[in-house]
Amino acid sequence: MQAEIIAVGTEILLGQITNTNSTHIAQGLAELGIDSYYQTVVGDNPARLATVIEIAAQRNDLVILSGGLGPTKDDLTKQTLAAYLNVPLVEDPAAMQVITDRFTQTQQTMTANNRLQALYPAGATPLTNHNGLAVGAFYQSPDSADFLLLPGPPREMTMMFDTEAKPQLQAAYGQQAQIYSRVLRFFGIGESQLVTELKTLIDDQQAVTIAPYAKTNEVTLRLSAQAATQAEATVALDTVEAQIKAQVGDYLYGYGDDNSLVAVVINTMIKRQLSITGAESLTAGLFQSTIGGVPGVSAIFPGGFVTYANAAKHQLVNVPQATIDHDGVVSEATAIAMADGARQQLATDTALSFTGVAGPDALEGQPAGTVWIGLAYRDQPTEGRLYHFAGDRQRIRERSVMAGLDWLRR
Ligand code: ATP
Ligand code: MG
Repeated sequence: MQAEIIAVGTEILLGQITNTNSTHIAQGLAELGIDSYYQTVVGDNPARLATVIEIAAQRNDLVILSGGLGPTKDDLTKQTLAAYLNVPLVEDPAAMQVITDRFTQTQQTMTANNRLQALYPAGATPLTNHNGLAVGAFYQSPDSADFLLLPGPPREMTMMFDTEAKPQLQAAYGQQAQIYSRVLRFFGIGESQLVTELKTLIDDQQAVTIAPYAKTNEVTLRLSAQAATQAEATVALDTVEAQIKAQVGDYLYGYGDDNSLVAVVINTMIKRQLSITGAESLTAGLFQSTIGGVPGVSAIFPGGFVTYANAAKHQLVNVPQATIDHDGVVSEATAIAMADGARQQLATDTALSFTGVAGPDALEGQPAGTVWIGLAYRDQPTEGRLYHFAGDRQRIRERSVMAGLDWLRR
């Protein structure tokens, strides 16, 4: 069972709107276990639309069209499909009634064009539009591909697809073997290195596909297995995950699309009731703002310090002037003093400090990207770590925060 989605609209081709309809439909198809190897976008041009319909019908069992069901001149999808199928357009009385009622209610004059919205290809099952006037259709054909016609406006399309079309598809084709996915999240390893390390595994995979995806400052791997049941998929996914862990397990910090590094770290700290504060120089509050984004962080985060100037490092977290004079502001000693001072001020279990050169200019003879992070944890000796980050100012600050969080995780 294989389906192709065709999004119709010149505005999509021109890049004026994002093709969210195809995304939504594709997710729905995956849930139904219907394979989809092609997505097409075509403008409001009947000749080109006819061409892509023909191509799609040849290489699929089902073709899904969205857009161009409206009343205006450029809305030609169902006319073009009806011509391809060689059937007339017929009126859906229920949809026609809704349209007539709408015009009576709003006291507007109905035009011949509006009647168009109630038409669908003869032989199809009309699909109700709960959020608009244009009727959709599901056309099952014994000798060619089947067709699903959906309106363009996303509010209308998603409602019709979810409530009207999906049950029809399920009834027609049954539940196909479904795709089950698992997302593994990595930090501290680049996408190219990860892929290189796992090359053999990725190339040799049969049952499970492994798709890498680089996000800002981290990499995810999506493992997907097609299986009849969840249990069967779990076995396949577990096997591959174990193989991945054997090679790059050190960098794996979490699972799922929504569990970012900060969420994983902070939620673990909340669970373990470990309080945290920060003293931030080059990051100027970015670390605290980042952990502040995790719901429930107030249980472990009383507040903290932005200590940009040397005077603030001294006044707010008691960094001795002598330390700065002797070791420099971007130094292990200053990072340690900042972490210690912050932890003492707010009596937390943990404190993280950041001092470094965000750039673009060098500082104290150290190049942009030189960063010391300090970690104070209860009465254990406070440690400093030196990092060299590449990138512009913003990226260096972000990477500092991520590196600090990664340190907390370990
Ligand atoms: P209408 O009755 O509003 O004319 P229609 O079924 O004829 O609806 P289109 O005219 O193709 O659909 O598109 C209407 C609007 O819906 C577009 O201006 C656009 O904002 C949105 N739209 C259409 N296709 C998509 C798509 N694939 N993804 C996201 N939005 C879309
Ligand atoms: Mg339209």
